[in-house]
This record gives sequence, C-alpha cells and structure tokens, in this order.
Amino acid sequence: MAKSNQYKSPDYYLIDELFDEEQLLIRDTIRDWVNNSVLPIIEEYTEKASFPAHLVKELGELGALGPFIPTEYGGSGVDHTSYGLIMQELERGDSGIRSFASVQSSLVMYPIYTFGSEEQRIKYLPKLATGEIIGCFGLTEPNHGSDPGSMITRITEKDDHYLLNGAKMWITNSPIADIAVVWAKDDNNKIRGMVVEKDWAGFSAPETHGKWSLRASATGELVFDNVKVPKENILPNIIGLKGPLKCLSSARYGISWGAIGAAMDCYDTAVRYSQERHQFGKPIGSFQLQQKKLAEALTEITKAQVLNWRLGNLKNQDKATAGQISMAKRNNVDMALRIARETRQILGAMGITNDYPMMRHMMNLESVITYEGTHDIHLLITGHEITGLPSYR
Ligand SMILES: Cc1cc2nc3c(=O)[nH]c(=O)nc-3n(C[C@H](O)[C@H](O)[C@H](O)COP(=O)(O)OP(=O)(O)OC[C@H]3O[C@@H](n4cnc5c(N)ncnc54)[C@H](O)[C@@H]3O)c2cc1C
Repeated sequence: MAKSNQYKSPDYYLIDELFDEEQLLIRDTIRDWVNNSVLPIIEEYTEKASFPAHLVKELGELGALGPFIPTEYGGSGVDHTSYGLIMQELERGDSGIRSFASVQSSLVMYPIYTFGSEEQRIKYLPKLATGEIIGCFGLTEPNHGSDPGSMITRITEKDDHYLLNGAKMWITNSPIADIAVVWAKDDNNKIRGMVVEKDWAGFSAPETHGKWSLRASATGELVFDNVKVPKENILPNIIGLKGPLKCLSSARYGISWGAIGAAMDCYDTAVRYSQERHQFGKPIGSFQLQQKKLAEALTEITKAQVLNWRLGNLKNQDKATAGQISMAKRNNVDMALRIARETRQILGAMGITNDYPMMRHMMNLESVITYEGTHDIHLLITGHEITGLPSYR
C-alpha cells in the first residue's frame, strides 16, 4: 500500500467532535487531494527545487484559494476555521504548497478584497480564486526584514500615475506571479499598497536559488526600476504599516494551522515505524525512550489542536488579536520543528531519506519559523500585548 494511504490523523482529545459537518467535509476533501496529488510528487519536486505549478488550478477548483473571500468575488465564503483546516491539510503535504495557498489567499486576495476598490476586486479576485493568475506579496527588502516600517521602496507622484522604485527580497511566488501586492512609501512617507502587473516596463522578478528549505516553493526578488503604476492600481482604503500587518495576521493565522499538519504527518509516520521496526527482538515502539518521544509529540500536537480550535472561533467572531495569533504561530511552528527532529530520530538512518517526510518537513519549517515574523519577533508582539510596552527598538 502506498504510504500516502496509511495516514491516520492524530486526534487524541476527539477535537474532530468540535468541528461542524462542513468544516470536516472541507478538511477531508483537501486531505484526499493531498494524498492523491501532492504526496506522490512532492519528493521529486523538492529534490529538483521546483514548484509543482500544475497543482495551482486544482487548488482553485478545490476552493483552497481565498476560501474566506465571498462567493461573489470567486471565493468560497467559508469560515476561518475551515480556512485553517485547509492550511493544516496542505502543510501535511508540504509547507511549500501551503505557502503558495497562504500567499495567494491571505497576502494577495485578502488585501485586494479588504483595501481594494470595487474595480480592483472585480478585476483580480475571481482570477486569483481559480488560479488563472498567481499573486505575490512584496514587503521584505534586502535591508529591512523584521522592521518593514523602515522600507525604502518608494512611489513618486506624477500626473496620472506613480513611479515605483526599489527592491523586495525573499518573496514567495515572485518568479511565477502575474501580479504583486507591493508596499512602498509615498511622497509623504506614508506606506501605500498597490497592485503591480508582471508585464509592466521596469519590473523584474528574478528567482532566488540555493535554498535548502521550501524547495518546492518558488522564491525570488521584485525589482522596480521606474515602474509606471497607474493611480487606479493603488489600494485606496488603507494607509500605513497597519495594511501589511493586517495581511500578515491573516497569513500567520493560517501558518499556525499549517504547522500542526506538518507535525501530525511526522508523528503519524513515526508511530507506524515504531510498531514495524524491530531491534533487540522487539518493536522499537516497546522501548520507553521511543514512547517518551511519541507521548510528548502527541501531547504537544493535542495542545496546539485545542489552541487553534479556540483561535478559529475567535477569528470567526472577529475577536482574535495580533498577539493571540503570534502566540499560536510561534508555539505551533516551534512545536512542529521539534517534533520533526525527534520523530526523525525514531526512524534512525531511514529518517534522513526521502522515503519518509521528516527531513523535508524539518527543512521547510526552518523557513516557516523565520518568515511572516521570526520566532523572536512573535514573542515581542505577545510581550507588547501583555505589558503595553513595545520592545522592538
Ligand atoms: C522562504 C521565505 C519566503 C518568504 N516569503 C516572503 C514573502 O512572500 N513576502 C515578504 O514580504 N517576505 C517574505 N519572506 C521574508 C521574511 O518575512 C523575513 O525573512 C522575516 O521577516 C525576517 O526578516 P530577515 O530575514 O531580514 O531577518 P532580520 O530582520 O535581519 O532578523 C535577523 C535576526 O534578528 C532578530 N531580530 C530582529 N529584530 C529584533 C529585535 N527587535 N529584537 C530581537 N531580535 C530581533 C530576528 O528575530 C532574527 O533572528 C520570506 C522569507 C523566507 C525565508
């Protein structure tokens, strides 16, 4: 039997009973798709460091692109718990596939829907939802990562357009994107968002090579050399850093679910292996040290599942704070990374091969713990909410 069909989702505290029928149906649909379309190809694409672009339209058909966007704009109009469960299942397959869907949904469709004009919504959202066009999100710059408010990319006002100059770095999807949601400072030093199209003169998006992490995700730069941005492409309903930060809150929320998926995959693989692999005449799962690893992994997964079930409900009620989302993103990604390392050891030498997913998840999670706010920065965001005192600078 193919490994993909043996997956048994850990649910120690019967959290499934807390989800409604629609949420479970959506989750199971994505789970089946990951089994059939992602797992059979993901090791090959990881090895050759290539994004499986043929999956994009399938993700659109599944409703995994902008699931929370209303149906009139091509989204699925589902709740945030369902969005989280979609991210969980995609990342069970691979963080690169989840990253693609996160960026398209939370960092491209969300700002166009939330801050865009009606014309921008109608022009871009339906095509983004089907995967006919791909988007990326340009905030990070070569010299401004954790501190995006110091960005130097600029727009200068001309008659009917702005001139955009600067560069963005570490941008997921940039080499394959048709549009980019870009954040830049205007003549008044205020951060503005805009939609930039691939074919505009002066705009290029070279790919970043040599990554040992997220190899099945396309990452690159965005370079703007006097790019003419028509005024109607500025997102009219947001000014300031809170624009990109709200997008990041939506994406970080999805990541906190995705990390649980990666951890569940590692745990499930290790349980099965511990029962099948014999040393000293017994299954290795009968040794206390291996049971400790598995019991601790299941404890951490269960805590994260409960945390995120609650976070999903808070998000559905529009009550989730940035600090709560940071706490979940930080906790769950760190948890998943530790579980990937510990469960890799349960597999001994076999754990380092691409016959099993742990090394791939582990390498991927090194990006996930860094992007959309590093592990340390999320601690500071929570600390800020606790004390009311920002400690970033
Ligand atoms: C694979 C990948 C994909 C990405 N995709 C995107 C994308 O699509 N769009 C986008 O805009 N960006 C993207 N990023 C960029 C990502 O968000 C940044 O890498 C991240 O915000 C950290 O910035 P930095 O790498 O410049 O690190 P730095 O900001 O230079 O930080 C370096 C270290 O210093 C620490 N540090 C910084 N400031 C403080 C402080 N005040 N107190 C304590 N410690 C501090 C950090 O925690 C970190 O450990 C991506 C990154 C990766 C790796």
